[in-house]
Amino acid sequence: MHAGVRCAMNQRKELEHLCRYITRPAIANERLALNSAGQVVLTLKTPYRDGTTHIVMSPLEFMQRLAALVPRPRLNLIRFHGVLAPNAKLRAEIIPDGMKNKSKPTDANDDVPQSTTSVRISWARLLKRVFDIDIEHCPHCGGTLKIIAAILESGAITKILDHLGLPARAPPRSPAQAFELFEPT
Ligand SMILES: [Zn+2]
Repeated sequence: MHAGVRCAMNQRKELEHLCRYITRPAIANERLALNSAGQVVLTLKTPYRDGTTHIVMSPLEFMQRLAALVPRPRLNLIRFHGVLAPNAKLRAEIIPDGMKNKSKPTDANDDVPQSTTSVRISWARLLKRVFDIDIEHCPHCGGTLKIIAAILESGAITKILDHLGLPARAPPRSPAQAFELFEPT
């Protein structure tokens, strides 16, 4: 996992860019086109050694090739290697104690969903871990904080946030942008 790229709540353009990047299709749309005969023309990113720069195929053949890229159902897409591999001898030595029982190597294909009876991490710790927001400690003295009240009424929440000069509504949604999948050549 690479989590080095991040954007702030109000950076909607950057967020869109990031979303587009992580949900990008297998083939860049710019490299796909339909020729006048209705065939799919794929421009190769790097030409083959024999000098081939384009692949021309029927739409059905194209779909067949795309379908081959889709992993079979319930396949675990996260693969661990080295000491983290499911059958590694040293695995038990390095994984947290709570996970020892449930991650026993089953078979070579580790597509068995792991049980959810694991140690749950509190949402406060998740917030700290993912967004580096610490709600358990006082920012001034470092003392432990405890919940004294939960405000659920939206009117009151808005009032408090406004008073603190914090945005009282979620960032605006920008409209989705449509683009053509195929451009006739
Ligand atoms: Zn304090």
